[in-house]
Amino acid sequence: MSIRVNPDLRNELIQFGIGDWNACYHCGTCTAICPLSEEGFLFPRKKIRLMQMGLQGPLESSVEPWLCYYCGDCTKTCPRDANPGELMMSLRRYLTSTYDWTGLSKKFYTSKIWELAWILFFAALVIISFLVILPSFGYKFTTELTAEGGVKLNSFAPIPIIEAFDWIMAIIVATLLISNILRMYYKIIWKNSTTKVSLWVHIREFWLLIFNFAVQPKFSKCDDKRYWGAHWFLMSGYTIMFIVIVVFLPWFQTEKILPVWDPQRWLGYYATFGLLFGLVIAIFGRLKKKDIKFRFSHVSDWLFLVMLTLTVITGIFIHIFRINGMPMATYVSYITHMAVLVPMILIEVPFSKWSHLAYRPFAVYFTQLKKNAVLK
Ligand code: SF4
Ligand code: SF4
Repeated sequence: MSIRVNPDLRNELIQFGIGDWNACYHCGTCTAICPLSEEGFLFPRKKIRLMQMGLQGPLESSVEPWLCYYCGDCTKTCPRDANPGELMMSLRRYLTSTYDWTGLSKKFYTSKIWELAWILFFAALVIISFLVILPSFGYKFTTELTAEGGVKLNSFAPIPIIEAFDWIMAIIVATLLISNILRMYYKIIWKNSTTKVSLWVHIREFWLLIFNFAVQPKFSKCDDKRYWGAHWFLMSGYTIMFIVIVVFLPWFQTEKILPVWDPQRWLGYYATFGLLFGLVIAIFGRLKKKDIKFRFSHVSDWLFLVMLTLTVITGIFIHIFRINGMPMATYVSYITHMAVLVPMILIEVPFSKWSHLAYRPFAVYFTQLKKNAVLK
């Protein structure tokens, strides 16, 4: 591991968020109060020290920033107003950019123009596909309704084409994310020249990854449990929607008007509720700025919230307009929905805010591997 000092590290880190780590005089209050800091994996003070010293190598191989769930207790108690909670948040953005080999994550986090330009580019591609490319193959808007009085959505957005596109998008995103996780593994585990972790430990502890993805038990250790609940609803809603849209699209994008008790409708309603519940808490929290965790917002936080909200609202509109036989309103909602959803998936999941869904459970798994490492 490199222990060379990078004198420009401070300037690089400033681009990823606010923070005044020079204000910190290392009293250690933040680490003492942190409900998630533990023996062998102490934070946030140690990380602030690495930042101050410009120790880029040890900082990039740190797992601790992902173990912080931004409860804000450290920021509330810091006698120097150094805002350690937000420093850890900025560090997570920085680490995301170091795992990404394409360099796009850094561009998106440090330049509003870059992220907006790519969002608009993908949105334009989606709109052109629906207004120009698909109609040229005979898939057109129709005001004709189904026998039940619903909109003929699939004549304009054909299931086999949308499904193929979903799979291509999912494969691209998964490939990028997996390659970034491998780089994260290399930095945190593999690169350590003094310890090694056996294959058996890798297999034995793998359940932690699944468990932490599904339940996020570490988050529940924060004194204020409300955000754990809201985050869980948001995440479960998103995961259900993602699986349903990618794997079960022919079942989900139906032209039939299913009875209200049909499981397809309930799954959709639950996912929508989960997403809306989490979004309302996050958006109002950031607007009111009362709680520490919502007091400081990076542009990437707002972009993500706005895009996800638009996706959910247009999804609700599609459902309402479709079953009430309103073709043009359905088609406009569908195109808008896809024009927001596609850039959100392609940009936010592998390169930006949404990537933490993968990095956090992997960080817990890697922490456990480190605990079980033996000297070489
Ligand atoms: S509480 Fe504040 S001053 Fe003390 S170590 Fe933490 S960040 Fe530094
Ligand atoms: S925000 Fe909470 S979890 Fe994160 S370092 Fe501070 S006290 Fe610990």
